[in-house]
Amino acid sequence: MISVEEALSRITGAFAPLPAETVSLSEALGRVLAEDVVARVTQPPANVSAMDGYAVRAQDVAQTPAKLRVVAHIAAGASFEGTLGPGEAARIFTGAPLPTGADAIVIQENTEADGEEVLVLETVSEGRYVRPAGLDFRTGDTGILAGHRLSSRDVGLAAAMNVPWLRVHRRPRIAILATGDEVVLPGEPRGPNQIVSSNGFSLAAFVTACGGVSIHLGVAPDDRAALAGLADGARGADLLVTSGGVSVGEHDMVRAALGDKGLAVDFWKIAMRPGKPLLFGHIGATPILGLPGNPVSALVCAALFLRPAMAVMQGCGDAPADLETVRLGADLPANDRRQDYLRARLDKDADGRRVAVPFERQDSSMLATLARADCLIVRPPLAEPVRAGETVSIVPLQGGILTI
Ligand code: AMP
Ligand code: MG
Repeated sequence: MISVEEALSRITGAFAPLPAETVSLSEALGRVLAEDVVARVTQPPANVSAMDGYAVRAQDVAQTPAKLRVVAHIAAGASFEGTLGPGEAARIFTGAPLPTGADAIVIQENTEADGEEVLVLETVSEGRYVRPAGLDFRTGDTGILAGHRLSSRDVGLAAAMNVPWLRVHRRPRIAILATGDEVVLPGEPRGPNQIVSSNGFSLAAFVTACGGVSIHLGVAPDDRAALAGLADGARGADLLVTSGGVSVGEHDMVRAALGDKGLAVDFWKIAMRPGKPLLFGHIGATPILGLPGNPVSALVCAALFLRPAMAVMQGCGDAPADLETVRLGADLPANDRRQDYLRARLDKDADGRRVAVPFERQDSSMLATLARADCLIVRPPLAEPVRAGETVSIVPLQGGILTI
């Protein structure tokens, strides 16, 4: 049995960033940049007004009220060729370029229009409400660095920088094969002791959430030849993920079946709970991640190992799980040699502080408690007992690195 850290470093070490492809901005959300985004325009392109009002020379309104002659009307996108002289103002609107000679904006609310003239009621300092050219960025500025996963903010910035196509890493293609004689697909005829497969669906959804493309290979029976035949569908994928059949029982066929195909095993046992049996290896150029069959173990192991592997393939590194510290809502006993990930709810104590309350039963078949959990409490190997009110490390399940 190897530790979680050792397994993680062996897995992430086996992958490299996938080649780049070009996508349009509308396809770019969640993709990881393969090349920096560099501005192709200066924004704003000129000194522009930040308000609706009047462009003035600040010195002309040092004493108020001041009467100025309105010599121009400049809307956003328009321009004015003349120069503002002493005693002159230009009616101006948000985003419109300042005329030469003007150095400040008086907002409309501080004026009284009077035909061709305007009465300015408040003084302004030089530069007030003026956005200088290049305030946001200039041509040639680097806006977003390679290796960054694109948010909606980044998509907006790339658009503003006049960069409509982006170079991003190809999405990882992850083949998913569930196994088990007892497992049938939702809606299929079901024998008396058969169960409905959740792993294929949860893992495919997880792959999508991590920015990959899933290839659903179906459910293989616990039969060496049949399993090997279905695993052939992974040819050309960047990774084959299986669920179930990697333990020590005589119906656990994954290692034997893939062994017939030339599987080279890196490791297949890991000191964690849920999920002791976890296989990592490769057949030829195709890496294999054999996840445990229990639905909670499969997803927790996917979060801990599949996600970082996919992050490396997408060129954004093997981001370690973000641990947070919170108070515990119930006592926990000492831990054994396996690193434990306990499903828990996040609650508030009387003082409004977050507390993690572990579910009483942690059986790894209980998908309902995983779906309801807000976080996993991490219990290192051989951890001492902890009492309610003391602090523990958690990995949040939403919004954090471990989003399941
Ligand atoms: P195994 O590792 O194959 O022994 O599976 C461990 C447990 O997970 C067994 O109770 C299986 O019935 C269950 N299991 C395996 N595959 C799936 C699946 N695709 N969906 C739901 N449960 C599964
Ligand atoms: Mg099985």
